[in-house]
Amino acid sequence: MSTHHAERPVLGVSSCLIGQKVRYDGTAKRDRWIVERLGKYVDYRPVCPEMAIGLGTPRPPIRLVGTPAATRVIGVEDASVDVTDALEGFALNTAATLRDVSGYVFMSKSPSCGMERVKLYNASGQAEKKGVGAYARVLMQALPNLPCEEEGRLNDPVLRENFVNRVFAYRRWQALRSTRLTAQVLIDFHARHKYMVMAHSQAAYQRLGRLLSHLKGVDLERVADAYEAEFMAALQRRAGRKRHVNALQHIQGYLKQRIDAGDKHELSDSIEAYRREEVPLVVPMKLLRHYFRRNPDNYIDRQWYLDPYPESLGLRNAI
Ligand code: SF4
Repeated sequence: MSTHHAERPVLGVSSCLIGQKVRYDGTAKRDRWIVERLGKYVDYRPVCPEMAIGLGTPRPPIRLVGTPAATRVIGVEDASVDVTDALEGFALNTAATLRDVSGYVFMSKSPSCGMERVKLYNASGQAEKKGVGAYARVLMQALPNLPCEEEGRLNDPVLRENFVNRVFAYRRWQALRSTRLTAQVLIDFHARHKYMVMAHSQAAYQRLGRLLSHLKGVDLERVADAYEAEFMAALQRRAGRKRHVNALQHIQGYLKQRIDAGDKHELSDSIEAYRREEVPLVVPMKLLRHYFRRNPDNYIDRQWYLDPYPESLGLRNAI
């Protein structure tokens, strides 16, 4: 494959997840996979919003109070403490400094950093897991295309692979946006992500194609903004086994005239074994790459789907 991962992504991260002792009780919540595995291939920009707004450590705990539409962040022991505006203001300012990051890993359950299902207390003190951390909510609204995940959800192999795939795809997109925008670079980006997007959504691939179908005389910046939103939303969709099989079979078609019947059988068997959940995605993928190494094809060699992120992360061994 001619692809490579020269661009090292930078990820925002809740500081406690990389081992900084910034939690309300003076502890950290270091996550080994985030620090030791993913950290080999990305750089982190740690942010602790509660420390940043001057709460210090150790500090009295805070919690979400109200309704999903009207949530405040209030002191647990002293209800007159309300840090909502401070957290939201800090999130807005921080978002403006994170335009270059390619993803964000939040600490779950936190009234500041939690992405979802954070405890939200009503007026009578009962909690339901319906809240979103005040900092995370404003940050995600300000950067709607940024790949975001929580450390807990990253234990799920499918969500983990989906997140890392989005991070590296977003990095490539950001690299494109940092160069002079031309119709040709947009079309080339689209072509190289064909099978990756198809593995998530055929309809999205067609919508993206339509966005690029009339580029003469149009405002390319506006087209690129629309493309980015659609592209990142497509990759966030779960790439099911059926869609992967479909993409693998399409790619297999390029080998039709180039490999013999025995090799064809071996490849088909491997795709079928993946469909039946007997082997992980890495198995047919490796075989495909092996055949394309022996029978290079200019178009397939440039498909990011075959080499979307550093292989040594082993993400396709688990899905
Ligand atoms: S969850 Fe967020 S606010 Fe809480 S300690 Fe970690 S980084 Fe700071």
